[in-house]
Amino acid sequence: LRGVVALDGPSGTGKTTVARKLAQRLSAGYLDTGAMYRVITLAVLRAGVDPADAAAVTAVAKDTEFSVGTDPERPSVALGAEDVSAAIRGNDINHAVSPVSAVPAVRELLVARQRRIIDEVLAVVGGIVVEGRDIGTVVAPDAPLKVFLTASPEVRAARRSAQDTAAGRESSQADARASVDRRDRLDSSRAASPLRPAEDAVHLDTSELEIDQVIVALRELADH
Ligand code: C5P
Repeated sequence: LRGVVALDGPSGTGKTTVARKLAQRLSAGYLDTGAMYRVITLAVLRAGVDPADAAAVTAVAKDTEFSVGTDPERPSVALGAEDVSAAIRGNDINHAVSPVSAVPAVRELLVARQRRIIDEVLAVVGGIVVEGRDIGTVVAPDAPLKVFLTASPEVRAARRSAQDTAAGRESSQADARASVDRRDRLDSSRAASPLRPAEDAVHLDTSELEIDQVIVALRELADH
């Protein structure tokens, strides 16, 4: 793969699994931009800061040292030297991440960092699959392939609930549905870079598809 594959869409569409597998098959790098908003959110909560306090959240974001790995075989997220891969997936983070990521200064900081990481990976391996909400619209608007994944609300809630259960967290489908709906509503209605497809994005509904079918469809698109 040469260049960037921009993979956007709401939660529970299979984005992360698809992005990692696609990157592996294409021998490309992988960047999970959601993990970056999550690690800032973890730092905000640990600092005892209100996620709705934009000035305080900005101050924490500026002070937070973190790193994200770009190897699709073993994605990693660290806050300082601490591996926080599991901690950033908790329900407390799911709940607070949308207000944190709605703060314009946080987005500026992270988008700049994302572009630097993308450039570094492109220089070394030539291709990268980047997943998020604003990759096709803001982070990499020149990406040759932009994909917007969707799935029905029922399927998205079921996938989220299964993920939670697999990670040892208690989760009913009704809770997962409420949580996924709330986050997508907040992400779509914020003023700064709201979740929306790029005009030239290919839309793919994953409700009825197995992961491997999605990968086959995307590999065909990436080859053209
Ligand atoms: O993809 P994931 O569910 O890990 O993203 C967590 C949250 O981070 C999203 O709900 C959204 O609020 C925020 N996000 C964002 N822009 C991105 C990626 C994630 O605002 N590019």
